[in-house]
Amino acid sequence: MTILRCTRCSAIYERNPPQFQCEKCGNLLEYTYDFEEAGNFEFTGPFGFWRYRQLLPEVGTLATLGEGGTPLHKAERLAEEMRLKVLYLKDETRNPTNSFRDRCAALMVSNALDLKHDNVICASNGNLGASLAAYCAKSGLICHVIVPKIVDMGKLAQMLIYDAIIEEHGEAVDDALKRARSLQNETGWYQATAELNPLAIESQKTIAFEIAEQFGVPDWFIVSMGSGGTTYSIWKGFKELKTLGKIDDLPRMVGVQARGCAPIVKAHEENKPEPTVVQKPVTHALAILVGNPLNGILALQALKESRGIAISVPDAEIIAAEQEIARLEGIFAEPASSATIAGLKKLAQQNIITQEDKVVCLITGSGLKATDVLQSLTKKRKTAILGLELSTKGKILRILSRKDAYGYGLWKKLGKTMTRGAIYQHLNELARKGIVITYEKSGRKYFKITARGKQILRSIDELKTLL
Ligand SMILES: [Zn+2]
Repeated sequence: MTILRCTRCSAIYERNPPQFQCEKCGNLLEYTYDFEEAGNFEFTGPFGFWRYRQLLPEVGTLATLGEGGTPLHKAERLAEEMRLKVLYLKDETRNPTNSFRDRCAALMVSNALDLKHDNVICASNGNLGASLAAYCAKSGLICHVIVPKIVDMGKLAQMLIYDAIIEEHGEAVDDALKRARSLQNETGWYQATAELNPLAIESQKTIAFEIAEQFGVPDWFIVSMGSGGTTYSIWKGFKELKTLGKIDDLPRMVGVQARGCAPIVKAHEENKPEPTVVQKPVTHALAILVGNPLNGILALQALKESRGIAISVPDAEIIAAEQEIARLEGIFAEPASSATIAGLKKLAQQNIITQEDKVVCLITGSGLKATDVLQSLTKKRKTAILGLELSTKGKILRILSRKDAYGYGLWKKLGKTMTRGAIYQHLNELARKGIVITYEKSGRKYFKITARGKQILRSIDELKTLL
């Protein structure tokens, strides 16, 4: 049986719906298990995410696109360059939408289906939004993604093609996160922001489970840190395996951040329990551009418990590492994941990680989603396409294309972001142009998209493919 428990004061909460914050002390909640009850079980089923279902919070309906079970590459050429004997890359680019976040989406969308939600919301600077959009599409749910102003083009393209409703909010993901919280409070939508749903941490620990089966326990496990959740997930995974008697040792964790955005590294260096918030964070590695990491406390705990290291690297070294991973190992990693190799290089040069040490680096997502080159090439188009998608009329059509709705229902589905009067004005204009029609049912005026309206929506979708 799973328990949802406070990481600080141990207060216990209902398992569902997943809440992230303790009402008593304000600290983060996490899922834990009765390991004695789990006893002496073996993992069963094909090598993939759901093989570890017994060590995940219970779900009834499975939302799956074939996530997990990703390869662990022996990186011999890269290792030689750094004079290391054993270096592995855990290649999470091989997931269905090319990032580790597919594990989160699989578990959270399964949970949303169990709890009978129609709408899922998340704040994301890319990968999670892309994953959720795909899993929601597969499950017939509506996915709302709040993205910050700066977002990787490839990830935005994925959200668009998977039919998510996208809203741009704030400069960095920290602002988007606040918006996702307030929208959830207003609408009751399923909250799937990684930092606001403890299922995210649970889902990602399966990366540790897979590595333990593929290779065993490395001496060092290197991850890049944005919110810090992934660092903690991996550590939690290894610790659970040890509690279960499946492994004897634990790895030392290394957390890497970009020099221009290193709130967790700074706190670790100063031996503080909480991240040092960075007001104006900068890095090209957008997936780890988080000034106020909400899981920072947990990451710092993992670093401390594992006698780990936190290190920051400049963007130039991250970009050089990205090219090196591609050139020497045939893997196109996104900048955030490449930071792990840049960090490893430093630690190897300083002889902190030695020749004999066995090292695993986590490659979280594909570089195809994140290239700066792509972004600068398509910047203009982003504005044009997002403009269409973000217009209220576009959103109304998107919702009506799924199901007829009445005015109040539409207003709720749009997140109550404007007055109801404004919605009716849009609806009337759409009706005048023959894009929607109305009819009466149970005393309510329903709106329905016309063939013409559908055609317009198709044109918007065709435009998207021009990306
Ligand atoms: Zn508490």
